[in-house]
Amino acid sequence: MFFRQLFDDESKTYTYLIANPNTKEAVLVDPVLEQVERDRNLLQELGFKLRYCLETHIHADHITATAKLRELTGCLGVLPEKAQVTRADKFIRDGEKLLIGSILIQAIATPGHTDSHMAYQVNDVSEAAPKELRVLTGDALLIRGCGRTDFQGGDAGILFDSVTQRLFTLPEETLVYPAHDYRGCTVSTIEEEKRWNPRFTGRDRARFIKIMTNLELPEPQKMMEAIPANVHCGNIAFPEIW
Ligand code: FE
Repeated sequence: MFFRQLFDDESKTYTYLIANPNTKEAVLVDPVLEQVERDRNLLQELGFKLRYCLETHIHADHITATAKLRELTGCLGVLPEKAQVTRADKFIRDGEKLLIGSILIQAIATPGHTDSHMAYQVNDVSEAAPKELRVLTGDALLIRGCGRTDFQGGDAGILFDSVTQRLFTLPEETLVYPAHDYRGCTVSTIEEEKRWNPRFTGRDRARFIKIMTNLELPEPQKMMEAIPANVHCGNIAFPEIW
């Protein structure tokens, strides 16, 4: 399996390029509009054909590149079930799989940061592949943190349940790849986060809700342009409907 973590410095967003080197089919998870040229060049250089743009959730901090990449490459835009968006090509529900040859991407419903958030397990199920388990955690679980829960249908109690019941029950060696990092970290494991994530370690549900309720974070700088565009898969020609 080809697996590459890419970074947008302005929004601190990680985009993931996952591809099957045999079939040359590729998926981009959480692509960022300002990085379309970077991603398109990389796809061309490596000889990959983009099949899907897959979103973990409707983002508030950047505009997705899904609409632009669909226009340029003919890929399909895949959004979590229940996401209130127009112009998605496909919705993915809890437990549903996308297959790129032997690479299996399976959705895990992890609401709480937003009401329709999905994490994705990514595994190469071919016999010859090394048994490396990966999960793209979106903004549900960040390295030593988690996404905020104060807008977009967010709910701290539901996020606590998603992380502790759905993500922390994955095999401990599973590599954790988040949608953002603000401190220079790139990857963690389920074991590490269970042990060292200050939002969850030693916290019960009530205490977690209290912490999340008192964060008092400023709104993301791009929120007023990002959400209206992202409900149309990043098609900025349709912002007026929101
Ligand atoms: Fe987010």
